[in-house]
Amino acid sequence: MKRYLDRIANSHRESKSFKETNVRMNIMKIFMVGMIYTFFECIGLLLSTLGFFEHDIREPVTVIVIFHFVFLTFLAVSFKRKWFKRIGMYQMFTNIYIAVAMLWGSVFTILVYIEREDIAIFSIVLFFVAALFILEPNRSSLLYMTNYVIFTAMVYGRITSIGAANAIAFKSLITTVLALVISQGNYYSRKRLEEYKMSLEEANEQLKEQALRDSLTRLYNNRYMFELLTRETERFERSDGALSLIMLDIDDFKHVNDTYGHLFGDEVIRRVSSALMDSTRESDVIGRYGGEEFIVILKDTSTEKAVEIAERIRKTISDLEFDKAIKITASFGVSTLKDFMSTGHYEKDATKERNHGKDAAELVNIADMNLYKAKHRGKNCVVH
Ligand code: GH3
Ligand code: MG
Ligand code: MG
Repeated sequence: MKRYLDRIANSHRESKSFKETNVRMNIMKIFMVGMIYTFFECIGLLLSTLGFFEHDIREPVTVIVIFHFVFLTFLAVSFKRKWFKRIGMYQMFTNIYIAVAMLWGSVFTILVYIEREDIAIFSIVLFFVAALFILEPNRSSLLYMTNYVIFTAMVYGRITSIGAANAIAFKSLITTVLALVISQGNYYSRKRLEEYKMSLEEANEQLKEQALRDSLTRLYNNRYMFELLTRETERFERSDGALSLIMLDIDDFKHVNDTYGHLFGDEVIRRVSSALMDSTRESDVIGRYGGEEFIVILKDTSTEKAVEIAERIRKTISDLEFDKAIKITASFGVSTLKDFMSTGHYEKDATKERNHGKDAAELVNIADMNLYKAKHRGKNCVVH
């Protein structure tokens, strides 16, 4: 019971998106169900006119059909209006619809069936509302309880035999409570589903993120870097800027591993990746290409600027201090997409679609070649 009360007290705190989805869904359901219902009741009216049914109930049916026509037309007209597109509005109209449906069920029962102690229509409306709409618990409690009070008041007003009225009041109380339990159960199972969905989405995001990142440095892995590079070369066609790439490789890293062990080697790799992050901009994307090789994608960056950044990184790495008495340096190769396109290195074929994967590979290849040259020029330098 305490848990139940806590739930009711907390029901206003659920996430906005869950609330919004339900409110929107409810309005759509009113529209769909209202149209189906009106269609069948119109046929019912026709059949009734032809004397198809024993009892003539055309009057109350006509009232509810007219209500549907007015209400649904109003919804259809208002749907795209700005003033209507608010949660509060949707909620208000859903409440009005449900209250009218319940009231109609009560009035119809009183007018036609109550002498026979038949509360089928009253019950059907309640269970129908419980099954169809997702209502916040306090809202449904209020609606169901108010409906019950109005119904029993009508029963005692209409039925002269107090015993019969008591029996109906008791039966309708059971129906009301059961329908309310279904309505709230419906709400909580929907809510649990939503929470489950959200936790799955979160886990999915984490998995995706893990698949893109390298476990040692948390930098992007080479698969992601190549994908990004391909996307950037594609975007490049539409922009006037330049796209540059820096490739770097730690010098004599084998020696570091051999002398101080692989764990220290790992530490060096981590420190170098932090240095890379510290000496680049937010918009630059850094990845670990291989063992002790890294690449940096520099959007809208000319060769001169890229060389300047590479120099800065080179200096930061060579200034790093470690527990062991060593200095770490790295060699750099720079390539720029605009350069190799304009120098004829890249053969432009206007009749063919540009192959962006090829552009990306070319960009990596040129940076790699320049890196190789840097190693040959004595390491700890930048070649473009
Ligand atoms: P160079 O200056 O020509 O680049 O020489 P180098 O010794 O750095 O080049 P080489 O490519 O021969 O050696 C790279 C070494 O990096 C070999 C490999 O064992 C080591 N290595 C690759 N990945 C890791 C890693 O994740 N952790 C550690 N500790 N070592 C790694
Ligand atoms: Mg190396
Ligand atoms: Mg290497």
